[in-house]
Amino acid sequence: MTTTPDPGYADLLQSAGFQPSRRVPIPDLRWPEGVRCVVNFTLDFDAMLLRRLLNEPWGQRAKGEFCGRVGIWRILDMFDEQGVKVTVFTPGRICELYPKALHRAVAAGHELADHMWEHDVASDPAIEAAHLSRTVAALTEIAGQPVIGTRSSHSQSLLRQNGVLYNSFTSASRLPLYEYDEQGENPILQLPFHYALDDAMFFSFGWLATPNQAQRIMDVDEVFDIWWQAFEQEYQRGGYVNFLLHPFVSGHAMRVDMLERLIQRMKTLPGVWFPTCADVARHILTQHPLNKIEG
Ligand SMILES: [Zn+2]
Repeated sequence: MTTTPDPGYADLLQSAGFQPSRRVPIPDLRWPEGVRCVVNFTLDFDAMLLRRLLNEPWGQRAKGEFCGRVGIWRILDMFDEQGVKVTVFTPGRICELYPKALHRAVAAGHELADHMWEHDVASDPAIEAAHLSRTVAALTEIAGQPVIGTRSSHSQSLLRQNGVLYNSFTSASRLPLYEYDEQGENPILQLPFHYALDDAMFFSFGWLATPNQAQRIMDVDEVFDIWWQAFEQEYQRGGYVNFLLHPFVSGHAMRVDMLERLIQRMKTLPGVWFPTCADVARHILTQHPLNKIEG
């Protein structure tokens, strides 16, 4: 039997292998003294930008407006009451649309990080570069300090040129890892999230005539149970949890209330740390730098 060479298979093989391919796990990852499990709460402040990009109907875009006017404020109030610092992944355009919400986040000690200019990475490299530098500059001005994180598929060389030290854009592992680009260069720290901890998977429905046919509005108590179990599994392993929340989804009162109950229950266990992604990144880059792992 003759087989036709499959040009994609080598790529598949490389992805399936963990080391020495693109993704480098961090052996014996240790958290700061007294910490057993790290919980990152991350907010993707998309507002209506993705909806606009997909040319969705007005009902979908109105949900995005709710994010900027109500959702982000309500959810940040809850995190502040709980003393939990979060990372707000923000498209650059939000600096023009909802600057007060971003200033409010910064004043409370939350982190701002890149989430593309208008929720899209341009295929033209010159436009991509302009978008990233414009977003980083706009966020840095509001944050009053360097922006070191992203949630995007921007090229890693461009990210590094712009001072970005970590990305939170993979589900390839349950623990933080280093990732090289497709040329085997420009390694960057990845703080993985998981779709089972993404609020949109449980609570986001598609409006009439939207290309998104999914209809999902789950009972908050059911999601509470799923998320508690996910946290507990990682807690037992001394691991890492990264919740991906959208204020247009989770900024509704019943979901904010559920998140607050979840945090309160997590706090009943010793050694749970709720840092920003930047805090986690700085800890790993200092204590587990790539050159030490690769020797
Ligand atoms: Zn987004």
